[in-house]
Amino acid sequence: MGCGALSVIINWNMAANISLYIHIPFCIRKCSYCSFVSYSGRQDAMEQYSQALTREIIQRVDNRMLKSVYFGGGTPSLLPADHISRLLECIGTHLPQNREIEISLEANPGTINHKHLYAMLSSGVNRLSIGLQSLDDGELGVLGRLHSSAEGLNAVAYARGVGFKNINLDLIYGIPGQTLPSWQYTLEGVLSLEPEHLSLYGLSLESGTAMMEKIEAGELPTIDPDVSAEQYELAEKILAAKGYRHYEISNWAKPGFECRHNMVYWKNEEYIGVGAGACSHIGGHRFLNTSSLEKYIDAFTGNGAAVESDETISPEMAAAEAAILALRLEEGVEISSYNNDYKTDILSVNSKEIKELESYGLIENNGVNIKLTPRGRLLGNEVFWRFLPASSAQNDTNQVAMERE
Ligand code: SF4
Repeated sequence: MGCGALSVIINWNMAANISLYIHIPFCIRKCSYCSFVSYSGRQDAMEQYSQALTREIIQRVDNRMLKSVYFGGGTPSLLPADHISRLLECIGTHLPQNREIEISLEANPGTINHKHLYAMLSSGVNRLSIGLQSLDDGELGVLGRLHSSAEGLNAVAYARGVGFKNINLDLIYGIPGQTLPSWQYTLEGVLSLEPEHLSLYGLSLESGTAMMEKIEAGELPTIDPDVSAEQYELAEKILAAKGYRHYEISNWAKPGFECRHNMVYWKNEEYIGVGAGACSHIGGHRFLNTSSLEKYIDAFTGNGAAVESDETISPEMAAAEAAILALRLEEGVEISSYNNDYKTDILSVNSKEIKELESYGLIENNGVNIKLTPRGRLLGNEVFWRFLPASSAQNDTNQVAMERE
């Protein structure tokens, strides 16, 4: 579906900026640890889904200038290049022409080749995030990834070959059976590729996943948190020596290559999420779309609604979420601007928590910023829940802190 006919009702050039997240929920096969909204073997629905996305974009955008676009998944690189191009063309119709925005797309090795990547780049995608995860084939097998380490390396070479100049590589540590030397091997191998950005995620076990079942059945060793902590600390040391800035708990970048889109989440700014299972944060509300592929497509062919929940975020909760998200960043909570933005005084409101966390060596407060210490970065969730309003459950911390990493 083209969007030109409806473009007259949208004016991106007015008011504040906003970011757009586009969820592509298709995967070839489910990885063993995956709890994301993704469907395997449903590529037959891609055309209808892309049309639904176009309709939702048109329906949901307001009069704000677009700041960034992020195709996440799922496996967005499974989507045919002409679908990406149609979506970007639709969005681009309404963008200011004199401004370059960041357009990221997640890609998995084994789903991309030169031609496909060249078409993505030509459509306007200017940042590629490749799910490498590990350079050890045994570990990739434990994760249930479809690709080998050689295919991972090829994917990066293809991306460079067609001209991508801003590449993120995703890696996972804490994999059952992964040792410190094998993690070091992966890190050093990946650094030889000179990515502009690295996202390193500690594996978290989610109920209902194949990996959880295997661990419970004793077929895989469980995740050892001490080994995970050592792996994280090793990464911090190696990446710092190579000139990467550890600008967020799980993210490192060469200067100037911090992910602009993800900064929107960590700065608690507003964004629209379109697609099955996508979340939006607009006007003090958090909207969540249905995660059902069928319901989502139906919602944009005239039956039903895509938005399944609409949560009003109280001022108290907004301030708590902003503090938790800011603590993930290297600069932490900038006290003066935070107090101004949320009409509060964090040093008074959270005085007890701040003193307690300082005494545990988890945060430092210099009167200008409140930041996690290196130990606090390892034990982030121990810090975050303390900033939630008393009425909130600890579970909420994980949701806020990990949302859209
Ligand atoms: S590629 Fe990503 S979204 Fe797809 S199954 Fe694997 S972990 Fe899940």
